[in-house]
Amino acid sequence: MAKVQLKDICKSYDNGFNAVKNVNIDIEDKEFIVLVGPSGCGKSTTLRMIAGLESITSGELSIDGKIVNDVEPKDRDIAMVFQNYALYPHMTVYDNMSFALKLRKMDKAEIDKKVQAAAKILQLENLLDRKPKALSGGQRQRVALGRSIVRNPKVFLMDEPLSNLDAKLRTEMRAQISKLHKDLGATFIYVTHDQVEAMTMGDRIVVMKDGIVQQINQPKVLYDN
Ligand code: ADP
Ligand code: ADP
Repeated sequence: MAKVQLKDICKSYDNGFNAVKNVNIDIEDKEFIVLVGPSGCGKSTTLRMIAGLESITSGELSIDGKIVNDVEPKDRDIAMVFQNYALYPHMTVYDNMSFALKLRKMDKAEIDKKVQAAAKILQLENLLDRKPKALSGGQRQRVALGRSIVRNPKVFLMDEPLSNLDAKLRTEMRAQISKLHKDLGATFIYVTHDQVEAMTMGDRIVVMKDGIVQQINQPKVLYDN
């Protein structure tokens, strides 16, 4: 179970700028929610507050009914996938994927099981010994996803994960992420400024503008009018 609720969430940055204003979103368990809107409308800020990477100025963020405003990122059962992959360049794919589990002192056999399972889902089985620089953009993005999957988070946050890929790979990865969502049965919150991505991937789409939620709807309702 992973319901995520944003109740009157606001963010004022230190310079006084109000980036997010009274945002209310009820995200259902296993839902694929897409936050869409022009650059600067507050999508990343919203996602970063959910991840715990940015403090919440006011309002309540809860996961499965428990308020988590003051809970450390690592204790939120959330994984975030970034646009720039953020892989460790000196480590192999295997080590990149297992790193977080090693830090948690999980035993080797258990780690191996999780890494192999994730590698299978993402078709990385033959690339586990490579370093990131010997991978294509799409393969790197899959490693970044793999690093999140091994932790079995209940909630996945993705901030424009496909924006550095070419058009063909983007299409492929869209399908892959949708499949991943089904396979994992986790709640996905996905930020993009790309309407096609929003329309093809989201169960529901949250349209933001100037820090405000303009509407929340299913893709067909939004784009049929
Ligand atoms: P989006 O992800 O929709 O492009 P962001 O959430 O990154 O938008 O940013 C929302 C607004 O907040 C933008 O106007 C941005 O310049 C501003 N902003 C982001 N981070 C900071 C910060 N650390 N300090 C001040 N303003 C910021
Ligand atoms: P994106 O477009 O991917 O959302 P941005 O370029 O808006 O990223 O922001 C990159 C980084 O700079 C973020 O950490 C954000 O918090 C910070 N930032 C963005 N706008 C401002 C700003 N006006 N003042 C200070 N920091 C900012």
